[in-house]
Amino acid sequence: MKLLVTGGCGFIGTNFIRLMLAAHPDWSIVNLDKLTYAGNCLNLLDIEKTEPRYAFVHGDICDRDLVMDLLTDNGVDAVVNFAAESHVDRSINDPSPFVTTNVGGAQNLMECARQCGIGRFVHVSTDEVYGTLGPSGKFTETTPLAPNSPYSASKAGADLMARAYFETYRFPVLITRCSNNYGPYQFPEKLIPLMYLNAKADKPLPVYGDGLNVRDWIFVDDHCRGVELTLTRGREGQVYNFGGAAEETNISVVRTLLSIVGKPESLITHVTDRPGHDKRYAMDFSLAAEELGFAPTLPFAEGLARTIAWYEANGTWLEQVQSGEYRSFMDTWYEER
Ligand code: NAD
Repeated sequence: MKLLVTGGCGFIGTNFIRLMLAAHPDWSIVNLDKLTYAGNCLNLLDIEKTEPRYAFVHGDICDRDLVMDLLTDNGVDAVVNFAAESHVDRSINDPSPFVTTNVGGAQNLMECARQCGIGRFVHVSTDEVYGTLGPSGKFTETTPLAPNSPYSASKAGADLMARAYFETYRFPVLITRCSNNYGPYQFPEKLIPLMYLNAKADKPLPVYGDGLNVRDWIFVDDHCRGVELTLTRGREGQVYNFGGAAEETNISVVRTLLSIVGKPESLITHVTDRPGHDKRYAMDFSLAAEELGFAPTLPFAEGLARTIAWYEANGTWLEQVQSGEYRSFMDTWYEER
């Protein structure tokens, strides 16, 4: 199978490409990534240098001509769309790029794929499209969409466009909605790598509000397997929820992290809550379990310890991301080719 993966230089896309190339010797992957601040070309450089089944293309999912060329020239069988603006706080500061990429870019990809007769299209979405829960209950695939941030609204917009493409054109799209991911290669603006870096530097750990917002955490490899199962076994037009069955308050995540890195809880600083901050997310992923055979494999404490061990072992990666050094490397590397 030949896959076009978008956003493959980001956190989840990087892990997905690494896992899929290792698991499927007969798959090849073209990775289309714009390399925004969140895209890091160093993540897959070893593979780019050594793996003939992998190719990187620097470009934008909103670019119709480029996407059409990639789909037609490469004999692509399926598309997996990870590309997105993904950070809620940034979407509060400026929603525009979120609408452009997350809605417009996703629609452009689907339209090009439809015109090229692509046989399978997985659109990667999020639990945040469902809005917020009270103290009990879980989101199912039929929970009404009620996004509360510009980020989640833009993801919901793309989900609805995907639904319309299926209903209108019988376009073979499948939608995954997953809870909070953590693991290697996550950009240090997100909770776990940010808290890790601050703790290591003995800086305050900023926790929104009372820290009692609840998220369901999933190790990134488990999410990637969910996307793989959706791609290979899912029903066209279907939405599949994925989660880690690991509900944690933000404050408990931070406390566990501090205990793993051996730093005091006095570093925790409560800061003004994020506007529109959803109180609780929890996923019912029984449909994916029944139809796809999905089950998360890693308990949260074990996954967190593994993640922190990865950050400990990859200090150079973190330094390059923090200093922006990967950007100058990227300019030279791609100019030379
Ligand atoms: P990320 O921000 O780490 O990576 C996004 C990638 O998309 C980057 O490499 C970036 O350069 C690329 N990109 C952005 N705009 C682009 C454009 N216009 N054209 C081409 N590439 C572009 O995000 P992530 O955490 O890896 O999330 C990947 C996907 O999974 C997103 O769609 C996100 O909504 C979804 N998701 C994330 C989580 C999570 O916890 N991180 C949970 C559920 C769903």
